Amino acid sequence: MTSIFSKIIAGDIPCYKIAEDDRFFAFLDINPVAKGHTLVVPKEEIDYIYDLEDELLGDLFKFSKKVAAAIEKVIPCERIGLTVLGLEVPHAHVHLVPLDSRGFIDFKNKVQLEKDEFVAIAQQIAQNFS
Ligand code: AMP
Repeated sequence: MTSIFSKIIAGDIPCYKIAEDDRFFAFLDINPVAKGHTLVVPKEEIDYIYDLEDELLGDLFKFSKKVAAAIEKVIPCERIGLTVLGLEVPHAHVHLVPLDSRGFIDFKNKVQLEKDEFVAIAQQIAQNFS
């Protein structure tokens, strides 16, 4: 079955896109735990992150590093945390989450954002991606 992330990558479902290349795609999490909470996914639909080939897994982290650098330029934070959950969407992905001074990610504590805030954040991060 096609994952919701594959549908986003194909453009069949809208998203707040940050960046993509031929193998990876980054977009804002629709139910964020912090402003700038971003998901990075391989375009190849593989459920479990540890099933990615070593090279693809390594390159997913390299791509995530570039996305994190762009987030840091836009969202005031101490660091960008990187977490893997994968309990909800069976398409491997990493969560990049701006951390405050507590250095703590609470996935039960969501941030409410209006659509125009998502659009503005995604645009700013995308502009800083290189
Ligand atoms: P998990 O699979 O446990 O890592 O969680 C999946 C994440 O994907 C959650 O944080 C959701 O908020 C996020 N998510 C699910 N559907 C969408 C979507 N259509 N656009 C953006 N993020 C999504």
